[in-house]
Amino acid sequence: MLLKDKVAVITGGAGLNGLGFATARLMASLGARVALLDLERASPAAAAAQLGSGHLGLVADVTDKSSCEAAARAVLERFGRIDTLVNNAGITQPVKTLEITGADYDRVLDVSLRGTLYMSQAVLPGMQSQQSGSIVCISSVSAQRGGGIFGGPHYSAAKAGVLGLARAMAREFGGQGIRVNCITPGLIETDITQGKLSPERKKEIEDTIPLARLGRAQDVAGACVFLASDLSGYCTGITLDVNGGMLI
Ligand code: NAD
Repeated sequence: MLLKDKVAVITGGAGLNGLGFATARLMASLGARVALLDLERASPAAAAAQLGSGHLGLVADVTDKSSCEAAARAVLERFGRIDTLVNNAGITQPVKTLEITGADYDRVLDVSLRGTLYMSQAVLPGMQSQQSGSIVCISSVSAQRGGGIFGGPHYSAAKAGVLGLARAMAREFGGQGIRVNCITPGLIETDITQGKLSPERKKEIEDTIPLARLGRAQDVAGACVFLASDLSGYCTGITLDVNGGMLI
């Protein structure tokens, strides 16, 4: 199996309709042991139980450095190593530039950008000791297009920041066998989008996408598995667009 004996940590992974949980399910089916990290309200332990036995659900807030460190320690205690980190936690806020308050800005950047830094810092020392590891950062097409349907400008900025941070880490840690890559999903049907688009608006959007449909969580999960596995062993610092051709 492609991910046999690999240990994967996925932040924001407990939402059962989300990209993180779809990734966890696919990774578990390919032999990985998975640790789902999420806020308490998302019930990570219950979500991990749905993956079958041998997986872990931990309450962790990626905006809190000590919470990230504690979660990484707990995963290492349980599984002995961390092969893959998927920095997936993120929040959106559909507002316009002039409406963004300082608190909004902090909240949105803290989860996507600070969270990616803190969680990467928490797993990197173990990966350095192993001389191997793959970090996958979930950015967004909003970073590339300068705006999305559900995210605001601060969300675009946070996700563009993730691209830069990931490339810098790819450069810094490549010599130690650690790869860092990004995925830029287009519009994917999850709780973020569910019930928020009228059929007419959905059709309008689909008409602008060469593959003529919104994305599914499994589409992003497949890309995460590729970047986590040795199939992508010579890829680092790349951005993998999973957007149905939206940017062509
Ligand atoms: P989602 O809301 O289902 O998942 C986000 C998860 O992050 C939730 O489980 C939430 O509890 C968790 N989270 C929020 N704050 C956290 C914190 N401080 N610490 C730990 N966990 C926290 O949404 P999703 O659509 O599955 O999004 C997953 C990622 O993909 C996000 O980074 C999002 O920005 C990105 N993305 C989504 C789409 C889309 O169309 N759905 C498109 C591009 C990028």
